Amino acid sequence: MSETVKFTIDGKECIGKKGQYIVDAAAENGVYIPVLCHMKDVIPAGSCRVCTVKANGRNMAACTSPVEEGMSIENNTAELLDIRKAIVEMLFVEGNHFCPACEKSGNCDLQALGYKYQMMVPRFPYVFERRNIDATTPKIFLERNRCIFCKRCVRMIKDAEGRSIFAFKGRGETLEINIDHKLAANMTDEMAQLAMDICPVGAILRKEVGFNEAIGTRKYDKKVIGSDIENNHQ
Ligand code: SF4
Repeated sequence: MSETVKFTIDGKECIGKKGQYIVDAAAENGVYIPVLCHMKDVIPAGSCRVCTVKANGRNMAACTSPVEEGMSIENNTAELLDIRKAIVEMLFVEGNHFCPACEKSGNCDLQALGYKYQMMVPRFPYVFERRNIDATTPKIFLERNRCIFCKRCVRMIKDAEGRSIFAFKGRGETLEINIDHKLAANMTDEMAQLAMDICPVGAILRKEVGFNEAIGTRKYDKKVIGSDIENNHQ
């Protein structure tokens, strides 16, 4: 049996497992910490930082930091909420996210966090980067204008031999997400759907299904992001 640890989040007493990441332990205790790059049971990337919390007085990423016995975690403070809002704003201005025309609208984690943090006009200037779309594989559109470089697809979407179908190319301003055309040619509908579902924005889209689910009936059209975690423990 794994060793348990006791800690607090905003004063609430919580119990987790030794070595468990703060974000996962928090969710098991009914506390929502926002994530964009993190996925439970997948090696963390710690790249988006939207899960920033203050643990024992220091800011840290909740998706890469494990809970410790007696740890005091702050999650819902004005300072942290503004850091998260600023990160969401940065992601919006750095890409081209035109929500009303996006196939992922209502199922997009970035859009949902924009609503949650009541983002209006971002405090940063828009970059209006021009990036290419790759529509050359049979099942997928890769809309690079919306990629937030979370690395979820690179870490999760692999073929039967464990080879990643997606990869990053370049660095700094030239960094872009790419798809291996040979491997992508053998993608099943299930793999393509999984890739679309795990992408937190509308950068990976399955061909011919973009608007199968009507706008207004989608996941975040009905509930606020994170409410599942909070409501499960009331
Ligand atoms: S394509 Fe989507 S899942 Fe892949 S890195 Fe970009 S935002 Fe993340």
